Amino acid sequence: MNFARDVVDAADPGRLALIELTRDGERREWSFGAVADGSARLAGTLVRSGVGRGDVVMTLVGNRVEWVLTMVACFRIGAVVLPCTEQLRAKDLRLRLDAARPALVICDERNAAELAAARPGCPVLLVPDPTLLKGPPVAAVELAPDDPCLITFTSGTAGEPKGVLHAQRYLAGQRLQAEHWLDARPGELVWCTAASGWSKSARNVFVAPWLRGAAALLHDGRFDPHERLELLERERVNVLCMAPTEYRVIAKRAEPRPLAPLRGLVAAGEALNPEVLRLWQEQTGLTIRDGYGQTETGQLTGTPLGEAIRPGSMGRPLPGVGLTIDDGELVADPATIPTFFLGYLGLPPHEASEPWRTGDRVCADDDGFLYFEGRTDDVIISAGYRIGPFEVESALVAHAAVAEAAVVAAPDEERGAIVRAVIVLRDGHAPSDALVRELQEHVKQETAPYKYPRRIDFAAELPKTASGKTRRALLREQG
Ligand code: ATP
Ligand code: MG
Repeated sequence: MNFARDVVDAADPGRLALIELTRDGERREWSFGAVADGSARLAGTLVRSGVGRGDVVMTLVGNRVEWVLTMVACFRIGAVVLPCTEQLRAKDLRLRLDAARPALVICDERNAAELAAARPGCPVLLVPDPTLLKGPPVAAVELAPDDPCLITFTSGTAGEPKGVLHAQRYLAGQRLQAEHWLDARPGELVWCTAASGWSKSARNVFVAPWLRGAAALLHDGRFDPHERLELLERERVNVLCMAPTEYRVIAKRAEPRPLAPLRGLVAAGEALNPEVLRLWQEQTGLTIRDGYGQTETGQLTGTPLGEAIRPGSMGRPLPGVGLTIDDGELVADPATIPTFFLGYLGLPPHEASEPWRTGDRVCADDDGFLYFEGRTDDVIISAGYRIGPFEVESALVAHAAVAEAAVVAAPDEERGAIVRAVIVLRDGHAPSDALVRELQEHVKQETAPYKYPRRIDFAAELPKTASGKTRRALLREQG
């Protein structure tokens, strides 16, 4: 197998592969022929820079076409690509350099100073640089499903991010979610807004769309809720993949509207509050289909196509994927997962015969739909009750004054722990004791009353990982 050869080179060279929207407002279209040629020439540059099969190439490039071309160039020659997000600072980069020992870094000029501060100790090629794409092209090599291809780091929600090594089969394995969850169709345009460097970006920005004959939108810009809606309309996007936080902020700050020909919305990475689902449904007429995955496993569940949405559910296991619930924890069977990882960098490989404990608590309804309760380390045990933070957060977000909410345990002598909520208010609302009591009453109406937050703190923002996930562990420590 070889993704570059089998998917990019094999496509009709005239067909649209990519629409690039640059930071300075330019718009360029890339056909599959142009991507095939550009990536083959860039592969030549990598080879001439000393990169061989199995060597690691790190990228520190925004959502620029050079990032896509470097990924495909690495797939072409069997190099292992380690995409890094531009939000990383020198110490984060150092962690990745030490763990992965790249042979070469492809770095955006705007990140060059931060990279230099991490002292890379290997050659660095800066982009943009037209000579990267000017040399003689090289041909694709034959690769085996278990040959390494990609390193992505986990989000670091619980602690230090972990380097996750994936095999070539991970790329081809994206077909499953592309068909049953992302639902990209030939000739359509897919926009996955994740910044390069995250697991979701590596899967869904172009790999999954291309496997289905769709084109990808690559936007190199910061998150602006109003601009997102404008671009969706202007570029006529068909399928949108965003983080729940992005859906939430757009629903609460920008008020989405009908956005035809947009027909598919998917979310992954964090739990999706039913309130956000409701707002999008009301404002656009479209439902958001949630799906669950980990950097280590790839996508495992998704709301099945053509079935009614169950608010609060992350869908069912993708076809063939073996998931069970053991003592409240979601456990996966690696042998059934086409995108399961090889192992963490620097650690022995994970045996496919060993069950994979996800560290996430879920429950299932009678039809096998799964409901996320919280990470096992985020579950609150208060006076003998187990309380998943997600349900309480969802109840809070359903209140008109609340923009965002994070729910954590706070130590309590009598109860062991109490439920504490940290809340970001919407514009036009101010903290007060009366509002605290109102929010507490609101939660008692929406969920079992014992789950209500006995303590409520207000904050200007919530601590997040660079990928936008709430860091509840940090709030617990501050508590
Ligand atoms: P780290 O492993 O470094 O602590 P992380 O687990 O957040 O960070 P990722 O691999 O990016 O790193 O995220 C996977 C986790 O994200 C899952 O284990 C789960 O907790 C959460 N998650 C992903 N998708 C969903 C979803 N649809 N609903 C709820 N939670 C989700
Ligand atoms: Mg994790």
